[in-house]
Amino acid sequence: MRILLKFSEKLVEQPITAQVILEQKVPVNIISAHIDSAGGEILAEIPTALSENIIGAFREKGVVVTVPELIEVDGEKCFSCGACVSLCPMNAIKSLEDSTVFFDKDKCVGSACGICVDACPSRAIKSIRQNVSKSKSNSH
Ligand code: SF4
Ligand code: SF4
Repeated sequence: MRILLKFSEKLVEQPITAQVILEQKVPVNIISAHIDSAGGEILAEIPTALSENIIGAFREKGVVVTVPELIEVDGEKCFSCGACVSLCPMNAIKSLEDSTVFFDKDKCVGSACGICVDACPSRAIKSIRQNVSKSKSNSH
């Protein structure tokens, strides 16, 4: 699942992501990062089964963690107009040879972007909520 990590100016110098990976012994795959000396955001992929522990570990270190919603495309409503294709900043939407539109879910950053959701003239794209696992941790 995907999580959005927001680092304040104070936290941005600290190796918090590396600390969480070492402490929790989990992979945290960075999908995109926009960080400078004033702070920033990282979108990361984490194992869903361990999500509550990992989110708790980031929050204990002062990082603001949100769970972006992913997108779902209703093939019945999509009429392949292509309006969404060139708008995607992640190149997650492609026009295929048969003129249908393909969404690459591995590239999409979901509601952290949401541009195509707002742009679709037939409201074929909607945000769907990700579920955080209820594992061992009872924090938050
Ligand atoms: S939500 Fe953003 S990143 Fe995802 S497919 Fe739509 S435009 Fe691309
Ligand atoms: S903007 Fe909507 S209708 Fe047009 S191709 Fe994209 S999903 Fe389909």
